[in-house]
Amino acid sequence: MKKLHLTSLGCAKNLVDSELMLGALELGGWQAVEDPAEAELLLVNTCGFIRPAAEEAVDEILDLAEYKEGDPTKKLVVTGCFVQRYGKDLQDALPEVDLFVGIDDQQRLLELISQLADGKAERLILSQPSCSLISSAQPRRLSTPPFRSWLKITEGCDNRCAYCMIPAIRGKLRSRPASDLIIEARALEQGGVKELSLIAQDLTAYGSDLGGSLASLLRQLLAETSIPWLRLLYLYPASVTDELLELMAGQPRLLPYLDIPFQHVSSNVLRRMGRRYGRQDLDRLVSRIRSLIPDCALRTTLMVGFPGETEEDADELLDCLQRWQLDHVGVFPYEDEEGAPAAEFQPKVPDEVKQERFARVMEAQAAISQQRLRRLVGREEEVLVEGLSQETDLLLEGRARFQAPDIDGCVYINEGEASPGELVKVRIAEAHVYDLVGGIIS
Ligand code: SF4
Repeated sequence: MKKLHLTSLGCAKNLVDSELMLGALELGGWQAVEDPAEAELLLVNTCGFIRPAAEEAVDEILDLAEYKEGDPTKKLVVTGCFVQRYGKDLQDALPEVDLFVGIDDQQRLLELISQLADGKAERLILSQPSCSLISSAQPRRLSTPPFRSWLKITEGCDNRCAYCMIPAIRGKLRSRPASDLIIEARALEQGGVKELSLIAQDLTAYGSDLGGSLASLLRQLLAETSIPWLRLLYLYPASVTDELLELMAGQPRLLPYLDIPFQHVSSNVLRRMGRRYGRQDLDRLVSRIRSLIPDCALRTTLMVGFPGETEEDADELLDCLQRWQLDHVGVFPYEDEEGAPAAEFQPKVPDEVKQERFARVMEAQAAISQQRLRRLVGREEEVLVEGLSQETDLLLEGRARFQAPDIDGCVYINEGEASPGELVKVRIAEAHVYDLVGGIIS
């Protein structure tokens, strides 16, 4: 078999695209290998959402290009958001690359690679990102452990946040039909998936182009599958409805966990960001979630140093974090993105001020996150066992319902035995800043 090496950069949505490309290539006679030195085809699925991601993509491309030296039969193919965003500029900048493929053309990758082998392919294949949508009919090679997976329910985004290039890269919102998602979820369940995380650029936008809704999709997933853990990631704050929260409150299979990127809390900053809500809306949302789903873990993402952010805005952010006591918070210093409206906004916040605000938020939230975990000591929690701990073979590692894969902390298990993919009851004995420790009780 012909051998390929795939590197997937960026988020879980990109990883799903990588899994689909791998599925198609395997069906076409390719075999994935770990070592790039063994591969004839070196494939990189890039992220280009923000500048550091684009830099990471260039580094990875240049690293892989070294494996081509002295062997003209090896081909280097680059696809994903970085290609979609920078398109034509890349052809001169990266002569090492044999083929660039935009997002909409990923479904034709097998055909494009055989054209490349025949010397017939153009070097850049780039369509407008507007119509392609993945489907359950495409073969998919999972890269996650067999007991957990991602379900990408939409492509693109219709929001126009002033700092974000995603709509330009990924195009307008397209929701996958619920029937297709059910087929995919059932197949994943048959393959052993116990935790299915629903992902999208904006999960709450699901169905607005089809006359459906996220709540209605969830009802169908609950009825048509028995997957024990369904997790919701990336919800737009203004679109989290009572209908959705009430459904979650009454359905233990919908994990009491919500990842809702607020981006900021100050109404002034949010308005300039182009977000459709203000501080009071966030206050109401947090208290609605706390009253309807008291156990719900909340994750958010925040940006500090957006143009025009004042010291009062930064103080308001810290004040809200203290009041809301969120479980998990990701913080990023704002950076201008070429082509995004916010890149033109003034006044810019100096780098040292951004860093100081970043450090203040991180420090405050570390104490809050630990406090939130401490309340769990002594409680019994359901944990999905991932396997031996990455730290030491003497411990098992798993995640509780309030810990999402790849981003939140974990539960270290120091008593009892279980296999990867088992759901067990653990009594929590210790809480650290991001992780918990406990023993299996059943
Ligand atoms: S909702 Fe998210 S993906 Fe869509 S424009 Fe805003 S930040 Fe970008």
